[in-house]
Amino acid sequence: MARYRGSVCRLCRRENIKLFLKGDRCYSDKCAFDRRSYGPGQHGQKRGKFSGYGVQLREKQKVKRLYGLSEKQFRLVFQKADRQKGITGTNLLTLLERRLDNVVYRLGFVNSRTQGRHFVRHSHFLVNGKKVDIPSYLINTGDIIELRQKSRNIQCVVDALGAVVRRGIPQWLELEKENFKGAIKSCPAREDITMPIQEQLIVELYSK
Ligand code: SF4
Repeated sequence: MARYRGSVCRLCRRENIKLFLKGDRCYSDKCAFDRRSYGPGQHGQKRGKFSGYGVQLREKQKVKRLYGLSEKQFRLVFQKADRQKGITGTNLLTLLERRLDNVVYRLGFVNSRTQGRHFVRHSHFLVNGKKVDIPSYLINTGDIIELRQKSRNIQCVVDALGAVVRRGIPQWLELEKENFKGAIKSCPAREDITMPIQEQLIVELYSK
């Protein structure tokens, strides 16, 4: 699978929003977006007006990059959202939020979704007592996510949990920090996703 290997700060600058892809650095004065809040590249400072299609495309790219998915993965999630009952845009965001790599990030076990994906891939987490190593695994209400005993001393986990207060835990999750456990109180609702996203634009783009 093609994977983006360039600078992730460049992605924030391209999408003109902080996507918080680099953990602690995003909250420091080293954040590239805070220092240079214009597009990357030679012509980045001449950010032109987008066409209707351009606006839709940028919105899709923003969400795709926020959750760290490839185009193919993102489209598959969209197709799943489209097949579900209800509003497709809301279904899409809910499906993305319910991914295990996102949930471990939201619970504060890791500093970014990318790190979350690595930790899940390397089997550091148990879901309801069972090892799960699939980052796209969808959590459900009542699930318990636990860091494995042998992983509890990893320095970046300790650091991430130390910084969790600054980031805050969404209302639909509950963290038992001392037991390295998190519970899913409910599935995420649209209002739980606070990032400015116009999901309707993505639906319009994929409906062309
Ligand atoms: Fe984006 Fe700033 Fe974090 Fe880089 S440091 S990923 S520019 S929010």
